[in-house]
Amino acid sequence: MKAIVVGAGIAGLVTARQLGLAGWEVDLVEKSDGPRRDGYMMDFFGPGVEASERIGLYPRLARVAYRVDGVEYLDARERVRARLDYDRFARLAGGKVLSLLRPDLERAALGALEDVPHGRVRLHYGNRVTGVSMQDDGVRVAVDGPAARLPAADVVVGADGIHSEVRARVFGPETDYLRPLGMRAAAFIVREAELNARFRNRFVLTDSLDRTAGLYGLRTDKVAAFLVYRDPPAGAGRDTSAPRDRLRNEFSGLHPAVDRLLDLCPADPYDDVVAQIVLPHWWKGRAVLVGDACGAVSLLAGQGGSLAIAGAALLGDTLGRVTSADGIAPALTEFEQAWQPVGAQAQASGRRAASSFLPANRTQRLLRRWVIRATALPGIDRLVARQVLRSIAK
Ligand SMILES: Cc1cc2nc3c(=O)[nH]c(=O)nc-3n(C[C@H](O)[C@H](O)[C@H](O)COP(=O)(O)OP(=O)(O)OC[C@H]3O[C@@H](n4cnc5c(N)ncnc54)[C@H](O)[C@@H]3O)c2cc1C
Repeated sequence: MKAIVVGAGIAGLVTARQLGLAGWEVDLVEKSDGPRRDGYMMDFFGPGVEASERIGLYPRLARVAYRVDGVEYLDARERVRARLDYDRFARLAGGKVLSLLRPDLERAALGALEDVPHGRVRLHYGNRVTGVSMQDDGVRVAVDGPAARLPAADVVVGADGIHSEVRARVFGPETDYLRPLGMRAAAFIVREAELNARFRNRFVLTDSLDRTAGLYGLRTDKVAAFLVYRDPPAGAGRDTSAPRDRLRNEFSGLHPAVDRLLDLCPADPYDDVVAQIVLPHWWKGRAVLVGDACGAVSLLAGQGGSLAIAGAALLGDTLGRVTSADGIAPALTEFEQAWQPVGAQAQASGRRAASSFLPANRTQRLLRRWVIRATALPGIDRLVARQVLRSIAK
C-alpha cells in the first residue's frame, strides 16, 4: 500500500513513521526546505504521553525536554506578581508533563524515522502541494517543486496544519472551518547571552493587559520568545503591517527584555492566528486529515503537540493494518470515530481558556493573580484547578 503524507510537521512525521513501520510506502512532502526552527515551549501531557510511550517515541522526547519549575508573571520592574508551580501542575495533569521546544519535538519525530526500514519513507523537503485529485483507483497530488512527478497513492494524508491545502482542495475553503479566538501568537528564537543568563530555565510571562510576552532562556545562549496579542476583525483596527513591524508596534515599551528581543526578531517570525479547526468529517474518498488540519485546538488548550502525536499514531496504526483498497473506508471511519471526541473535548477547554488568557483590565488581571495563588492552596477542587491551570499555563 502507498500513501502520500502532506506536511512534515509533528503529525505528518508520526503518521509517516507508523505507516512505514506497518509496511506501507510513504512519500512525505513538505513545503519548507528543512525542519522548521520556530516555535515556543509546549506543554506535553495527556494522550501524547501515552501514545509516544506506546510507539517508542517517548525516550527521544524525554531526552530533549526542559526542566521548568514554574511560570512567573513579572511586572515592568521585574517583580514576580504571580507564580504557578509546575510540580503541582504535573500532579494535576496525572504525573508526566514534559516541556518541549516545538522545533525539538519536530526534530525528535524526524529522528524517529530512522526506525523505519530504509527507503520506505521518502521525505521531500522544498515541495509544496497545490492540488489533490482523486480517482477510483488512487489519488494524486500536484506539487510545486522537484517532486512534481510523484506517483499516485492509495491514500493522501493532509497533515499540513491549520491552513491545510489538502483540506481546502477536498473539503472546501478555510473560512468554512476556521474559528478564530480573537488573538494572534508569534514565536521566535534569538541568540542573546545576557538575557539567556538572566532567564535560564525560567519561564516568565509579562503580567500585562491585552497582550502577553513570554520568554525562556534555553540550554545554549539562546532565548525563546512568545508573543500573544489581540487580533480584531478585519477592518476594525487590525494592523496589517509585516509581522516583525506588527510585533514591534504591539509590544514596544512593554518591558526592557521584550524590547531587546524585538530588536533581534527575525524578519519573518512564526506569527499566526490563534484558532481552532472544526469540521464534521475528517475523511472523504481517499483523503484523510490529521493534526491541526482537522482538529486544531489552539495553543490555549495547551495540548497541540500531544494531540498531534496521539492522533497521528492512531491514524498510522489503524491505516497501517489495511492491506487492500477495500479496507481504507472502514479504517478511516474507525480513526474518525475514535479520535474526534478527544479533539472536541480539548477544543472546548481551549475556548474556555480564551476568555481569560489576555486580561482586558486591572480587575481581570487581579482575578488572574488571585486564581494562580489559589491553586497553591491545599484542598482546592481538583477539577477547577486543572481547568484554571490549562487556561493560564501557556
Ligand atoms: C513554525 C511553527 C511554529 C509553531 N509554534 C508553536 C508554538 O510556539 N506553540 C504552539 O502551541 N504551537 C505552535 N505551532 C503549532 C503546533 O506545531 C501545532 O499545533 C501542532 O504541533 C500540530 O502539528 P501539525 O503537524 O498538525 O501542524 P504543523 O505543526 O502546523 O505542521 C504542518 C506542516 O505542514 C507543512 N505544510 C503546510 N502546507 C503545506 C503544503 N501545501 N505542502 C507541503 N507542506 C505543507 C508546514 O510547513 C508544516 O511543516 C507552530 C507551528 C509551526 C509550523
